Amino acid sequence: MTEGISASEQARADELDAHVRAGRALPLVFDAPRRGKPPRHWADLAPDERRPAVTAAGLPGFRASQFDEHYYRQASTDPLTWTDLPAGLRADVAATFFPPLLREVQVQTADEGTTVKTLWRLHDGNLVESVLMEYGVPDKPTSGTGRRRATLCISSQAGCGMACPFCATGQGGLQRNLSAAEIVEQVVAAGARVRLSNVVFMGMGEPMANYSAIMAAVRRMVDDIGLSARGITVSTVGLVPRIEKLATEGLPVTLAVSLHAPDDELRDSLVPINTRFKVGQVVEAAYRYFETTGRRVSIEYALIRDVNDQSWRADALADVLTGSGRGAGWVHVNPIPLNPTPGSKWTASRRRDELAFVRHLNARGIAATIRDTRGQEIDGACGQLAAQQR
Ligand code: SAH
Repeated sequence: MTEGISASEQARADELDAHVRAGRALPLVFDAPRRGKPPRHWADLAPDERRPAVTAAGLPGFRASQFDEHYYRQASTDPLTWTDLPAGLRADVAATFFPPLLREVQVQTADEGTTVKTLWRLHDGNLVESVLMEYGVPDKPTSGTGRRRATLCISSQAGCGMACPFCATGQGGLQRNLSAAEIVEQVVAAGARVRLSNVVFMGMGEPMANYSAIMAAVRRMVDDIGLSARGITVSTVGLVPRIEKLATEGLPVTLAVSLHAPDDELRDSLVPINTRFKVGQVVEAAYRYFETTGRRVSIEYALIRDVNDQSWRADALADVLTGSGRGAGWVHVNPIPLNPTPGSKWTASRRRDELAFVRHLNARGIAATIRDTRGQEIDGACGQLAAQQR
């Protein structure tokens, strides 16, 4: 069944289409509309809030650790199946603490089943996606070699307000922030399938524009689910005050900065937030993050043919990163061939230009690895997530 679309939604879609076709910049949007706040869920509660919440609901306090055990340790999300809970209580517990937040709408697989993209419908109809990528799976050559591991790419917002012109999500605008629990639920759902080694905030949304929810979610992942903070990557367009705040949290998460250009002139057009926070400020904040946390910073760089992939730009990137006596040891560059979005005027770099770009960085002592692009054919690759257009 296809869902009806209202005249105003159609008008907005047409307007966005026109923007994209004209290559015009969308406005930057920081404040998500407040409509559609999702119901409170167990995963919204910090550890010290759980017992009080349980007793306020008329249950003995020890139930809190039982809920934690089922939900976080067993990745079991449905209290109706929890047999150590009196049958007469289960429905109430479900309604009070475990309202369904994500409904699976569609699951697509690629790479011999080792890349799985899930489309989720939120309680208010908004759609988000997450992508699970397994590596080093025996007898699945497309999953790559090396140690067996699994990375989950999650969404932090429905849509995104950062308006990067090469990104499918960015071109769809911002619907709303996800709650902490809506973020955690993506992780718990994947954890029910496989043992996760990494979580990356590289799905839909700008995590730093939804700071308190993503930080609460990171704390659940570390303190409750047991993931290593080092295995969690927060990827940002470069909201400098938030990078500074993240450095004070005492959590050694990995910071990734989507730079995509070493010079303000080009970055102003590729990453519109650059009109507020310049390349130099973003790189300086990233370096201070490294100094404070000891965590090497990742620089993301989507290689766009004949736009930002020239060797002289690699040299300029090296200058910017190593400038002010920073040296090269604090940073790792992840160039990734652009995944073109439908109707885009841009395309991926030529292989030889990718290799030359990396060579020029390496010559300056900068570590650089071309990131692989999993799940391209299911639109599950970086920057292709655009569920709301479906
Ligand atoms: N808002 C965060 C997370 C977004 S997605 C951020 O910008 O960092 C994660 C990465 O995918 C970002 O580096 C983003 O710039 C990149 N990306 C977006 N669209 C892309 C595309 N079409 N091809 C390749 N990478 C893309």
